[in-house]
Amino acid sequence: MRMVFTVDVEDWFCSPQLSLSDWEGYELRLEKPIHQILDLLDERDSTGTFFVLGWIAEKRPDLIKEIHRRGHEIASHGYSHRLVYHQSPKEFKQDIRMSKDILEQLIGSRVYGYRAPCFSMTDWGLEMLIEEGFSFDSSIIPNTLNNLYSKFNLASSVNHAFKIKNDLWEIPLPIKRFGGVNIPWGGGGYFRIYPYRFFNLGAKGIIENGGNFVFYIHPYDLDNEQPQIFNTSWANGFRRYYGLRDTYLKIKSLLSDFKCTSISKYYPRIGG
Ligand SMILES: [Zn+2]
Repeated sequence: MRMVFTVDVEDWFCSPQLSLSDWEGYELRLEKPIHQILDLLDERDSTGTFFVLGWIAEKRPDLIKEIHRRGHEIASHGYSHRLVYHQSPKEFKQDIRMSKDILEQLIGSRVYGYRAPCFSMTDWGLEMLIEEGFSFDSSIIPNTLNNLYSKFNLASSVNHAFKIKNDLWEIPLPIKRFGGVNIPWGGGGYFRIYPYRFFNLGAKGIIENGGNFVFYIHPYDLDNEQPQIFNTSWANGFRRYYGLRDTYLKIKSLLSDFKCTSISKYYPRIGG
């Protein structure tokens, strides 16, 4: 069974709760978990799409070049990690243009894809991706439980890539439907919280029903020793920090159980 493997390349402090100027004071910790992920992918002869934050690319250019050199797809996660609907259209346009330019100069080839911080995409944001020359977006989770996520009514496109318009494709994150509620099933905190067997069964179910499964993870999901500064509520703290110790082995299992590839390899008609 095949699935898409993606990584959002940001660090433990790149949260919308902090401003860009605050970030300078924190220790960058992503290199170790990124190398762990790269080595696991190598072991299974697998590839992934890495959505890189422009700010991180400026701080660790060699790391981004290494990800690219090791055969993975580089895509954009914007520059500043501000939620799309907290930016004006003009600010958003600047943010995506800047990150695309930084990444393309760094790797010497075109960047085709974008993922919004915390899946906060908007209708006008999608229009701007077309204007800025992106070929795919992977920012939509048709879900109403997490109030950060974008609010789209996309019932017909659950677990399937679809064309938004012109040449822009949406690669939505997977959900499972239980009792009329869409439960996110793509990765991140949900991957840490769900027992691996349960997650695996859900993913297999989605693929067996003809769906596309898009997995995502962050470097900090593997960083058991990160400073824990975000604890605004019990539920958010749980989702942010539960299960960090087990993520590495869970990813190893996932890569054994599924053949993982990047978005450009899974969908060869999209982008480059
Ligand atoms: Zn992010």
